[in-house]
Amino acid sequence: MNTSNVDAGFAPVAVADNALYVSALRNEFPILNQRVHGNVPLVYLDNAATTQRPIPVINATTDYLLHSHSNVHRGGHALAMEATRLFELTRSRIQAFLNAPLPEEIIYTRGTTESVNLVASAWGDDNVKSGDEVIVSEMDHHAVIVPMQMLCQRKGATLRVLPVLDNGTLDLDALPDLINNRTKLIAVNHVSNALGTINDVKSICALARPRGITTLIDGAQAVAHLKVDVQDIDCDFYVFSAHKLYGPTGVGALYGRAEIMSSMSPYQGGGSMIASVSFEGTTYNDLPYRFEAGTQNIEGAVGLGAALEWFGGLDHSAVAKHEQSLLRRATEGLSAIKGLRIIGNAPNKIGIISFVVDGIHASDIGVLCDEQGVALRVGHHCTMPLMKRFGVGSTARASAGVYTTHSEIDALVTSVGKAVRMLS
Ligand code: PMP
Repeated sequence: MNTSNVDAGFAPVAVADNALYVSALRNEFPILNQRVHGNVPLVYLDNAATTQRPIPVINATTDYLLHSHSNVHRGGHALAMEATRLFELTRSRIQAFLNAPLPEEIIYTRGTTESVNLVASAWGDDNVKSGDEVIVSEMDHHAVIVPMQMLCQRKGATLRVLPVLDNGTLDLDALPDLINNRTKLIAVNHVSNALGTINDVKSICALARPRGITTLIDGAQAVAHLKVDVQDIDCDFYVFSAHKLYGPTGVGALYGRAEIMSSMSPYQGGGSMIASVSFEGTTYNDLPYRFEAGTQNIEGAVGLGAALEWFGGLDHSAVAKHEQSLLRRATEGLSAIKGLRIIGNAPNKIGIISFVVDGIHASDIGVLCDEQGVALRVGHHCTMPLMKRFGVGSTARASAGVYTTHSEIDALVTSVGKAVRMLS
């Protein structure tokens, strides 16, 4: 790949792009301005898998490593104090970002997957018993389904599934009938990574709260697209990964209500999570450290803090408007291709579009689009039960980021059209 070539060769940005200053914003992402496969401009439409990082995020991590790196909490020297300050600063930024009441309700994890596993183990092992029930949805990511299935298997509990309707929305009318006095937890994603559907998680939590059912919301796909307010949603747990939010991989967070987490057993044992240790017995630290055993991904946390600061500086109403106009353009353009079927037509979607084409394997479309520089994701998107629900093995998925332009959507439509003509 030629990373030094900064001329992507796109047509001038459209009016809506200008409103967002997308072209200026793209300058912060040099990775986007390159040609691949010899000489085709990269069109990066795989943002649901991971977003790219802007220069300020990369610089914050580098600055930290150049000037401030140390282990946190355990030292009284200058670097340890600075590293600790930065680490805890990000915790308060996450708290503000999610509108969590307290900083100690924010636990660092490796990301969404580890956050869900933490809840399934630390909360689940104490609270789910034989005969109990846990509800997940048919559109959940394997990161939610599998830890909850494992919890149910460990405990002799039953996993119940909230179905998805033909248009890709959750069948919320089915939820009251799924709930009974054995239901202990409802875990569901805020936004579907495979369909783009925005779920009405507030209504789900409103149904759960008076019945004493704990709620876990997977915000992996929501955080970069929606304003998240855990108090307004009124969930018990909310989880996300930094790398879907223009931040680093290998770091993320779990928000959990202090009332619940303060009585939860530890997830992992080790340094930092203890108050005192002796061979006779160990006592555990307070929140949040009780759930942060061992050395954390400190530079990841610094990068996440920078990502939150950078993301917070964007004009979010313009971002949302831009994204919806990209989605409309992609939906219209792709729908006009003969034999192409969009999977997931919910009225409320983020800029994710999944599709299949009659008689053509999605992976062949992916390969031909890639040859034209268009980066899509092809496969089951870690949602095999959802693929089964729609009678497909896989889909091709295009997903937008804040830097996606209308010209890139046009390149998507052109490349898919060309691929379909070649493969028909
Ligand atoms: N949930 C959803 C909805 C996702 O899109 C993803 C990532 N594809 C995950 C969970 C898992 O996130 P991570 O791999 O960062 O832990």
